[in-house]
Amino acid sequence: MLQRILVPWAMPKIGREALSRSKAEVTFLHGPKGELPDPKEMIRAAAKADVLLPRGSQPVPRRAMIANPYLRGIANYGVGYDNIDVALATELGIPVTNTPGVLTETTADLAWALLMATARKIPQAHLYTISGRWKGPGGKSFMGLDVGPGGSNQPKVLGIVGFGRIGRAVMRRSRGFRMKVIAYDPYAKEVIEKTRGVEYRQLEDLLRESDFISLHAPLTEQTHHLIGPKELGLMKPTAILINTSRGPVVDEKALVLALKKGRIAGAGLDVYEREPRLSPGLSKLENVVLLPHIGSATEDTRGQMAVVAVKNAIAMLRGKRPPNIVNPEVFASSEYLRRVKG
Ligand code: NAD
Repeated sequence: MLQRILVPWAMPKIGREALSRSKAEVTFLHGPKGELPDPKEMIRAAAKADVLLPRGSQPVPRRAMIANPYLRGIANYGVGYDNIDVALATELGIPVTNTPGVLTETTADLAWALLMATARKIPQAHLYTISGRWKGPGGKSFMGLDVGPGGSNQPKVLGIVGFGRIGRAVMRRSRGFRMKVIAYDPYAKEVIEKTRGVEYRQLEDLLRESDFISLHAPLTEQTHHLIGPKELGLMKPTAILINTSRGPVVDEKALVLALKKGRIAGAGLDVYEREPRLSPGLSKLENVVLLPHIGSATEDTRGQMAVVAVKNAIAMLRGKRPPNIVNPEVFASSEYLRRVKG
């Protein structure tokens, strides 16, 4: 029987080519400019699919899972999977997969680009230069903060929250800047303690000591608003917060207030609480650098993510164990077996 994969977004060519070898009927659902379908459209199309292949951070409506008793899997295109109710999927016997590893280095590069750009006010200085306002000496000098040890030869402290694949890749890049690195991750304390040149800190101590804080924890119930008013209050007034993880890890309203009051020196953000909307006042601030969720956005990496997501999708279509399963306990459920045999 013909099997169907629903891709509810404009997938890159490399992914479409990989899908064309799947022998399944593939439906792409998106607007002419790549706009994502609305939830109703997605639920309707998902009712006929055997496997869904959503874009990372594209919400998968719960109904899309509940209303299709034959759905064999959801292959997320992204390493984060907070766009899917995984607990519900597991209960319903639906395997969920992600694309870990292939985007680690690219996202770490972006976290660093954001850190440097925020510390040295690169976008602000660029806009000033191209606008013709630069009239030579005596102009605006865009005084920034040192990332390396600076003129006084004082190493800066980098605090990493979430010491997984991307957190560790960010740490490796800090070595060229002779930074002191401290990290917080309640599930990787031993890894941190065993890593040369990195010291473990509780979150509060990390916030107090760091000159730069970079967030790399997934969005979960525990990490929602992990950084709120109290945490921002612990940071140095000269510190910079970088977020390339997920928007809701930071209380954005509290962040805007802290930045407005100069409670902290700046923030570099790739992700937001209610994407693509920005909290009121955020875009008016001068001490921020804001990017439109482009952490993994290089041709090479997005292509490899598509290849990995397609491999997972095809395995699930065939009722096989996919390479990157997020909820392995699902394979023991009778609901899963019913879906695969049915
Ligand atoms: P990972 O699973 O390898 O690492 C996440 C780490 O966070 C783990 O070590 C985990 O123990 C830790 N963690 C969990 N709960 C925590 C908590 N309460 N406090 C501190 N640490 C905690 O994942 P990864 O591949 O490094 O990716 C991390 C996240 O980055 C993803 O979940 C995703 O949301 C985000 N991401 C964003 C982009 C982007 O485009 N901006 C791209 C890729 C990944």
